[in-house]
Amino acid sequence: MLTLAFAAPLPALADGFSACLDRLRAQAVKRGVSRATFDAHAAQIKPDLSVLELLDAQPEFSTPIWDYLAGLVDEERVADGRAMLERWRDVLQKVEERYGVDPATVVAVWGVESNYGRSLGARPLLVSLGTLACMGRRQDYFRGEFLDTLKIIDEGHIPAERLTGSWAGAFGQTQFMPSTFLRLAVDFDGDGRRDLVDSAPDALASTANFLRRGGWKSDESWGFEVRLPAGLDISLAGRRNRHAMSSWIARGVKLADGDPLPAGGPDRALLLPAGATGPAFLVGRNFNVIYGYNAAESYALAIAHLSDRLRGGGEFRTPWPTDDPGLSRAGRRELQRLLIARGHDIGEADGMVGERTRKAIAKEQTVLGRQADGRASQRLLEILRAAGNVSAEDRGEGTTHD
Ligand code: CA
Repeated sequence: MLTLAFAAPLPALADGFSACLDRLRAQAVKRGVSRATFDAHAAQIKPDLSVLELLDAQPEFSTPIWDYLAGLVDEERVADGRAMLERWRDVLQKVEERYGVDPATVVAVWGVESNYGRSLGARPLLVSLGTLACMGRRQDYFRGEFLDTLKIIDEGHIPAERLTGSWAGAFGQTQFMPSTFLRLAVDFDGDGRRDLVDSAPDALASTANFLRRGGWKSDESWGFEVRLPAGLDISLAGRRNRHAMSSWIARGVKLADGDPLPAGGPDRALLLPAGATGPAFLVGRNFNVIYGYNAAESYALAIAHLSDRLRGGGEFRTPWPTDDPGLSRAGRRELQRLLIARGHDIGEADGMVGERTRKAIAKEQTVLGRQADGRASQRLLEILRAAGNVSAEDRGEGTTHD
């Protein structure tokens, strides 16, 4: 792995990078990007080696699905989403008429992807993608994304300085990759530009277009929570393993409240995100369409569940198989404030649990004689809350620096 021991790229590295940029310039021009656009926005970029570290980073701690969902579908995001449904009601109605995707689903994707347009990512796209196009282990892929970014600028959709995003190049309110933008972004506010950064109507319609092109069925739900009979053969589970409703009924599966399953309707697959003892779901094709947005079942379930909450639905009836639930973003911020007060250098209490927060938690867990799994959990919050603001220094452990 590359380390950041030097402040500036070594000369040989810099030479290699500018030679690579020269080749990219030729490829960009061949794809129809103007020389002026390349020279104004890409010719002078310097590599950002931190994205290479992120490309190769192996997460040190794993995230259980109940922590993942507790942060993504918390009361704050439900309340914000309901306000957005109200605020963008007319646009969302027109989006549904044109693309056949309902407002709650579109808004749920928006809320999970960018917190309703508030968290777009701060890394300059051309710098991240230029670095990844010239260095690291997926250069072919990122070269295409880099050239597509130039195309977006050249076509005048979004100004270069507004193109910031994740380290890997997902950007805007939809967090599309540049290639996805070129395929699927639409201009919905009619100003001639497909602007997924500063136009909510463009972003909402582009999300709906993505789902429609993925095969969204406007007359089907994503699925619903169910209750399993004791002893059900759980080898039947699997997102793509769809069976007729009559078959689930015959096996004794019921709605989560114990009512019988509706007879008929589309085939459904059994999803058991935390195994046989956690919440169970019957999901249909639309669940797989959401999965297509970002290939993870936990991600698709977060969006599906948030869409239900936006429609007025409640939390899952079956609890997750843990006696120590995950934290909402409000709970995470409080936990981070307590960690900071105890002398841990974890940056700001922003509710985002990254490596520094997890390491600080693991240290506190070690002191407490608990398993040092780095989890921002309900019980740890309660313990630290009860302990009050006693700094690590006061406890004679010195200040942490990680
Ligand atoms: Ca537009």
